[in-house]
Amino acid sequence: HHAKENGVDFMRYDAAMKQRTQSKVELENDMRKALEREEFFLEFQPQISLDTGKMVGMEALVRWNHPKRGLLPPSEFIPLAEESGLIVPLGEWVLKTACLHNKKWQLDGFEPVCVSVNLSMRQFRQYNLAERVDAILREVGMDPRYLELEVTESMTYDIETALDQLHRLKRLGIHISIDDFGTGYSSLYYLKSLPIDRLKIDRAFVKEVMYDGNDAAIVSTITTMAHHLKLKVTAEGVENEEQLEFLKLQRCHEGQGYLFSKPVPAGVLESEFLSRLAG
Ligand code: C2E
Ligand code: MG
Ligand code: MG
Ligand code: MG
Repeated sequence: HHAKENGVDFMRYDAAMKQRTQSKVELENDMRKALEREEFFLEFQPQISLDTGKMVGMEALVRWNHPKRGLLPPSEFIPLAEESGLIVPLGEWVLKTACLHNKKWQLDGFEPVCVSVNLSMRQFRQYNLAERVDAILREVGMDPRYLELEVTESMTYDIETALDQLHRLKRLGIHISIDDFGTGYSSLYYLKSLPIDRLKIDRAFVKEVMYDGNDAAIVSTITTMAHHLKLKVTAEGVENEEQLEFLKLQRCHEGQGYLFSKPVPAGVLESEFLSRLAG
């Protein structure tokens, strides 16, 4: 009796597994076609100077308008894209599209602001990444100083390779930031030698900054350290005025979060933010 029960359980488990694998394969196949079918699009989230309140940058974030499943957030397909390697062509599409938007805004006469693009581990491991980024910048005709690439701490684990890769990227004249800072592998010794421009404090620390003394200490310490290392610092996930006041007191340079704006489509960024910048 016991054995049979186990057998039934096993079969149920097996069926569930099969279904999950199947829908993964399906989504992966859909993703292959999605690039050609132009189902991906970008939203942009403003990055605000805490000094002036002006938008000084924007982060490009990818979305997938799936024909059957509707609008999918990156959490539902980026991990799968990473796993399958599709993140490489997708990541290049994101980079090129973000640069094209940025270049167009400049041609339209808006005050130039920097665009940040997330880089995935797979892209970061490409031996010719810097050449590929360079090719896109040239193709678009974009001044590299308006591009920032976001990497995560985990990408700097193999420090020799990371240093080499980051130096090559920096030589293009672009900026580099460390995204989700504080949540990954971090060595202060390496941090000082990395050719980076900015730390982005993960929103997990910003969230409870008013109520959790440890989070407040962490945010304060990261900000102070950034100042000493001559790095810019951006707080992610700023949702209310209290957090904003705390961050200003700490002399955090920039903020990104729902308090200022959610990520918005290009047209909204243009009408609500770019058009309000003094020329
Ligand atoms: P991330 O790079 O840390 O991007 C910030 C995420 O936080 C975005 O989620 C944004 O919508 C969200 N966010 C911003 N402000 C707030 C806030 O005030 N409160 C809360 N609760 N959330 C806020 P999103 O767009 O869902 O992206 C999630 C992650 O997916 C990104 O985290 C990034 O790691 C990844 N991702 C997005 N686009 C790309 C891409 O083009 N390439 C790669 N490789 N990864 C991407
Ligand atoms: Mg990011
Ligand atoms: Mg982040
Ligand atoms: Mg991230």
